[in-house]
Amino acid sequence: MKRNISIVLIFIIVLSSCGKDLLDKQPYKNLKLAFGNAPDAEIRIAMEVDPLRAGVTHMGEPSTFTCPECHGVLLQMKEGGRVRFRCHTGHAYSADSLMAEMSEGIEAALWNAIRSLQEGALMLEQLSSHVGESHPPAESERLATRREQLLKHADQLREMVTSRWTAPEEL
Ligand SMILES: [Zn+2]
Repeated sequence: MKRNISIVLIFIIVLSSCGKDLLDKQPYKNLKLAFGNAPDAEIRIAMEVDPLRAGVTHMGEPSTFTCPECHGVLLQMKEGGRVRFRCHTGHAYSADSLMAEMSEGIEAALWNAIRSLQEGALMLEQLSSHVGESHPPAESERLATRREQLLKHADQLREMVTSRWTAPEEL
């Protein structure tokens, strides 16, 4: 395992040190043609140079958004009338693709909340059955009321996920 990690590290170091030389190579020139007026950093990232070494942090201003894949800060770049985003590990998004990823994240978070509420309700149901024999009835009723509240909230969220929440591209 250690040997594999060493080989990978050496590979990364060699690739990184080659970054500057890539600018003089033919593939770079071909990519430059393909990318038009894209900044050199974009082309170097496309050539799989480490984004930090390629100068990704100078490509835009930090935004208030995080990368859906690695949770790093997204830099915001404006090109003409379009906005693009890129994190320092190299993930790139258009405004539309970032919104699509955010929509998936929102839906996943809502399902996670539904699951948590239902697990809470199941736990209260178990507690209520144990408490029933040895505690006053009021305690069992309190647990049952709380269980119903959790299930009601889970139902409301489920309604939101299945009908109210619609991703922008589906509007
Ligand atoms: Zn990222």
